[in-house]
Amino acid sequence: MSPPSFLLTAAGDVTQSLLLLWLLVAVIANLWTPARCARMFWIFMAGGVGLWLIAQFLWTYFEVIQRKEVPNPFVGDIAIVLHLIPIVAALVLRPDKDRQASRLRSLDFALLFSWWLYLYLFFVIPWQYVSLEARNYGINFDVLYFAGHVVVLFAATMAWRDSSGLWRATYWQILITSFIYAVTSIAASIAIDYGKYYTGSLYDVPLIASVLLFVRMALLWRNTRATPHFEGEHSPSAHSWVPVLVMVAAGSLPVLAAWAMFFSDAPTIVQQYRLALTLAMIVFVGALRSIRQHSLDKELARANRELQEASVTDELTGIRNRRFLATILNKDAEQAVRIYGTGDNANRNRDLIFYLIDIDHFKMVNDQFGHQQGDDVLVQVAARISSAIRYSDVLIRWGGEEFLVVSRFTDRENAEVLAKRVLHAVGSEPFRLKSGSITRTCSVGWAAFPWWPDRPDALSCDVVLRCADHALYEAKNRGRNRAVGIVPELLDERAVARDELHNPLLLDDPPGKAVLTLGP
Ligand code: GH3
Ligand code: MG
Ligand code: MG
Repeated sequence: MSPPSFLLTAAGDVTQSLLLLWLLVAVIANLWTPARCARMFWIFMAGGVGLWLIAQFLWTYFEVIQRKEVPNPFVGDIAIVLHLIPIVAALVLRPDKDRQASRLRSLDFALLFSWWLYLYLFFVIPWQYVSLEARNYGINFDVLYFAGHVVVLFAATMAWRDSSGLWRATYWQILITSFIYAVTSIAASIAIDYGKYYTGSLYDVPLIASVLLFVRMALLWRNTRATPHFEGEHSPSAHSWVPVLVMVAAGSLPVLAAWAMFFSDAPTIVQQYRLALTLAMIVFVGALRSIRQHSLDKELARANRELQEASVTDELTGIRNRRFLATILNKDAEQAVRIYGTGDNANRNRDLIFYLIDIDHFKMVNDQFGHQQGDDVLVQVAARISSAIRYSDVLIRWGGEEFLVVSRFTDRENAEVLAKRVLHAVGSEPFRLKSGSITRTCSVGWAAFPWWPDRPDALSCDVVLRCADHALYEAKNRGRNRAVGIVPELLDERAVARDELHNPLLLDDPPGKAVLTLGP
């Protein structure tokens, strides 16, 4: 239908171009958010709005500069069909959710994007370029465009349903806006096919309203650009519908190929075009799927490593936890026993020494400064002990305010040196806290494995650890801020001969003499 006046057309086109330009600027302004994932969201949004603007510019170019009616099929339609895709991508990205698997999601997005392009090339393009038929073109374009809007609405609903705060408000506005936009643009598309649309007609009013609503959505973020706390929280990704859609996309290819070959009554040239297109798409999807699989494998391996690491790490201090000991102890003990077994007396570094360390009167820290600052002291203690031991030694949070150092492949003759270093590192200067400072000493109990160098496999590591515990108890008893080591006495040989010391219960009275190290 020809427009009532050129002025109305020009005014309509220029208004819509300017509004879209404003929208693009409002969206681009949000790119300066410090959160990386939120930035990706706005990049995708800008992509969608940018394509929309291109289509509008082309439309304006025909109507206002060339002063011609916009042809149907229209070359700008490709931008119109594609501009919904980056918007879906932004909604699928879910910057308010899990940030980890974003590479996988971008691959899924690449596949969905190419599938969408494929559908456009498969259904719509043949009637524009391969075998021109405006009516077929119009129907197929409208159906595909309609499907695109349904996907946007679906993605916005899913995102809105399980989000919160500013993101929820954002998704809600996108949902409302896309609904109005979908209804009016589909109505306009159908009106174009029936020759009832002209620029500046009533169809444009809700369209303009939806652009304005979009601008309002982008402006929601105006005051949050400098605040970093909008980075997505770490929660499991909720949009499991994306992989399902990816499967539908991959599965649709053979179905469409079969339909093109056996059931569609399109001209042969269109059939051949569609088959060639589908074959190319199958190859492309195959390649993308194998890249995705590779990424998935890497992602899984990384997640596994992280989980494993977390399971042996103490959350508060970042040092190893009790579980870690089990992963190294058997191997280390076997190696120590083996070295002793070779009778190589020249090698002096064959002992494992267990040091149990307990902070003296730690309860007072909690009483005086509260549990939180008590935790801060524990973190500082861990750091101090860590700096006092060798790289190959292992520091473990044994529980509460108790630590274990396993000094590996060292000489028991030097055991007291490390004990003194630990006493000094912990007790020599005050711990600085938010509301003051406090000095705390510690007590150390140690014992070396193997218990008897000439019977290296007679007592297990667990038993030797209990010896260290007894030594610690002894250190506390003798007045704290000191280290006590327990080493075997000759007397014990007889007990070993009777096999009595294999019974750990006997260790309530530890088999050895105490070696006292006074003070740090
Ligand atoms: P001592 O060892 O010298 O006999 O006295 P102590 O006051 O240190 O006594 P004990 O080792 O038996 O008690 C440890 C206290 O440490 C008990 C608990 O209040 C505190 N504690 C244990 N684990 C934590 C922790 O993770 N954080 C904080 N802040 N306090 C802890
Ligand atoms: Mg204590
Ligand atoms: Mg304790």
